Amino acid sequence: MVTVLVNGACGRMGQAVLKAVQEDSELKLVGAVDIKGGEDTGKLVGLPENGILVESNLTEALQRLNPDVMIDFTRPDVVFDNVMTALRNKVSPVVGTTGLSDGQKEEIRAAAEKLGTPAFIAPNFAIGAVLLMVLSRQAAKYMPDVEIIELHHDRKLDAPSGTAVQTAAMIAEVRKAHKQGHPEEKEKLAGARGAEYEGMHIHSVRLPGYVAHQEVIFGGLGQTLTIRHDSMNRESFMPGVVLAAKKVRSLCGLTIGLDKLLEF
Ligand code: NAD
Repeated sequence: MVTVLVNGACGRMGQAVLKAVQEDSELKLVGAVDIKGGEDTGKLVGLPENGILVESNLTEALQRLNPDVMIDFTRPDVVFDNVMTALRNKVSPVVGTTGLSDGQKEEIRAAAEKLGTPAFIAPNFAIGAVLLMVLSRQAAKYMPDVEIIELHHDRKLDAPSGTAVQTAAMIAEVRKAHKQGHPEEKEKLAGARGAEYEGMHIHSVRLPGYVAHQEVIFGGLGQTLTIRHDSMNRESFMPGVVLAAKKVRSLCGLTIGLDKLLEF
């Protein structure tokens, strides 16, 4: 049985995780933290009351409850401190919160190795999104001109999405960096061509109604190929989150990406 504390428990993802953990026979919910604190973690997600209340002090909760794993779905501006707090208390972080910089990930990697406490980060826990990234890396070997369009709900704080950046990074592993579009192209409105990652362009759409969606469009001679993934609701992320919570303690240092836990 893996014991779990959920951080960001009152949020959209946090609540889905609270439910998934309580419904899994190999995970045991021992605590929950959110700056909104106070509620019963069963009642909050439509399950019977369990007496485990959402607390507001992460350090105090980690030290008192000593869980195996902390699952974090909070905010880009607080996730780094949360992860370092978990590692210092020998609790393995499973991180879904996006927005960590490369430098912060390297600091987390160093701390996880030094403290002998494995950590796991996934920019996207949906299996379909992982397949989209893996298939995009394969396709880019043969069709290296590519643009990424990611579409999310308008409450999302960071842009581009962690999934879009991870997709670009995986494509960059097999693609020689080159600038796309006309060499003399000029933006008549700033940002019209989107963000740039090694010459690839990434476009972020934010609208009510969306959950999390991404298209990767490859262009070749007389043809295009589009690979698209849609998360219809937050349940789509839960099998990946549960898998990572069960496996993280058997890993070493920092592991990034759900693809590392799956066999292809
Ligand atoms: P949300 O705003 O609904 O929830 C965030 C919660 O964190 C809120 O309840 C808030 O009170 C709480 N919070 C804020 N600061 C805190 C702190 N210092 N300590 C504890 N709790 C704190 O957001 P959301 O839609 O649930 O998304 C959360 C994060 O997860 C975002 O970064 C989002 O991009 C990411 N996300 C990742 C995946 C994935 O598969 N990796 C999927 C969906 C969303």
